[in-house]
Amino acid sequence: MDARAENFYAVWRTRCRAVNALHDDDSVPPEKLLQAVWQHQRLRRDALKTSDGKTLRVLHPGFASAEGGPDFRGAVLQLGDEKPVAGDVEIDLQSAGWRAHGHDKNQSFKNVILHVVWEASGKIETVPSVLPLKNFLDAPVAELALALENESGLPAALRGKCSAPLSELNSSQLAELLNAAAKVRFENKANAILARAKNSGWEQALWENLFKALGYKNNVWPMVNLAETKSRWRGGADSVFEIQARLLGVSGLLPDELTRSQKSSDTFLRRAWDVWWRDRDEFADCTLPRAVWKFHGLRPANHPQRRLALASHWLARKNLVSKIENWCAPEIPDKKLLDSLHEIFQVERDDFWSWHWTFKSASMIKPQPLLGEARVTDLAVNVVLPWLWVRAKEGGNEKILRAVERRFFAWPAAEDNSVLKLARQRLLGTSSARVLKSAAQQQGLMQIVRDFCEHSNAICADCRFPDLVRSWQAPTTI
Ligand code: SF4
Repeated sequence: MDARAENFYAVWRTRCRAVNALHDDDSVPPEKLLQAVWQHQRLRRDALKTSDGKTLRVLHPGFASAEGGPDFRGAVLQLGDEKPVAGDVEIDLQSAGWRAHGHDKNQSFKNVILHVVWEASGKIETVPSVLPLKNFLDAPVAELALALENESGLPAALRGKCSAPLSELNSSQLAELLNAAAKVRFENKANAILARAKNSGWEQALWENLFKALGYKNNVWPMVNLAETKSRWRGGADSVFEIQARLLGVSGLLPDELTRSQKSSDTFLRRAWDVWWRDRDEFADCTLPRAVWKFHGLRPANHPQRRLALASHWLARKNLVSKIENWCAPEIPDKKLLDSLHEIFQVERDDFWSWHWTFKSASMIKPQPLLGEARVTDLAVNVVLPWLWVRAKEGGNEKILRAVERRFFAWPAAEDNSVLKLARQRLLGTSSARVLKSAAQQQGLMQIVRDFCEHSNAICADCRFPDLVRSWQAPTTI
C-alpha cells in the first residue's frame, strides 16, 4: 500500500462517525456524546458561563454513574465568587428536560448542582444552574465524536492522587496492601456478627446475616427485619411451600390479586393464599408493608420474592447450620472452595421459582438456578467466613481460625460492581477487572474507598492515603 495514500478505511470511519454523531435533527449531538464531552472536559474550561451569566469553574466533573439517577456524582464546582460546592451533575439535551423528565420531583436528583444541556430552551430554571455546552466545546462536534467514541474509563487527569504512588508498588506490594485492607474489612464484619450473636445467639446471627446478604443491595433492611422476627413466624410451617407462603405473607410480597395472564402463577398464588389466609391475623404484628421493598432497577433474578423462595429452602433443611459448621473442618483445595460451599447452599429445584423470574413473567423453557456462583461468593465473604472465623476466635480455636483466614484470602474474585470499577480506574489507573486477583483484594480496595475516598472528595482534598502509600513503600523499595 502506498504509504502516502490516505487509509481508505480511516476515511470511511471518519465520515460515518461524523454523520452518526449528529442526531436526526442536524444540530443536536446525542446525549451520550455530551456525557463524554463533560466527562473528558472537552470544553473551553476557562470560558464557562451558566445561563444566568455566572462564571463556572469545574474543579472536578464528578464520576459517571452507572446506577440511574444523575449522570455524574460528586462533582466539585465553583460558581462566580461563591465557595466551591460538591454535588451531582445531570446532562440533558435541552434545559426543558429538567421538568419534562421529572427530575424536579425526583428525590434522587435533589443533590444536582448543575444541569448541563446542549442548549437552554423554554423557561430556564435557575436551580440547579444550567450550563449550555453548545458554545463552549473545544472542537467541532464531529471531531469530538470521533475522538471520544472509543474512550472508556477516566481521563488520566481525573485519577486519584494516590494512583501515582500506587503505580510504583510492585504486584506483591500491592497485594499485600490490599490484603491488609481486606483483613480490616473482614474483621469489622466478623465483629458486627459477634455483637449480634452476643444478643441473639450464633445461629440467629447467622440467619440474620444470610437474609441480609439475600437483600443486597436494595432490600437489605426488609430482609434483616424478616430474619429478626424469624422466631415469630417460623414455627408450624414445615414444608418448603408452607415456609414460602408464610415468608411471602409476612414480607408483604404475596400479591392479593391473581395475574389473570399466567396460569401457573395463579395456581401458585391460590395455593399460597390457602396457607396465608389461615396465618395472617396471627402474624399481623410482624408483617411488613410492601412499600418497604424496592424493585426499581432490580434484575428479575434478584427479585426479593425469588430470594425469599431460596431462603424457604434453606429454612426447611434442618441441617444447614451444622453443614456450614462442618464445612470448615476438612482440607479443601483452593480451586474447590467455591463449589464446596455452593453445594451446601444450592437448591435442587423449586417447583415454581426454578421456572419463573416473577409472578408476572411467563414460564421459562429451561429451569434457572435460584443461586448463582456470584451470590455464593457474597455469602462466603460477607457471612459464612466471618461467622466461622469469629466463632473460632471466641472459642480460642486457633487451627480453625487460621484455616478460615486462609480460605478468605484464597477465595476467587467476586462479580464486578460499580464501586470496584470506579475504584480500579481512580486508584489503580486501569479498567481491567483482572488486576484484582481475589475476592479479598476486591474487598481491600472497597475498604480503601470507604476509609479514604468517602472522607474526601473528587479532587482528593486532604486525603492522606497517597502520603501513607509513599511512606509505606519507601523502606521496601530502597
Ligand atoms: S480520595 Fe484518596 S484514596 Fe481516594 S482516590 Fe483520592 S487520593 Fe486516592
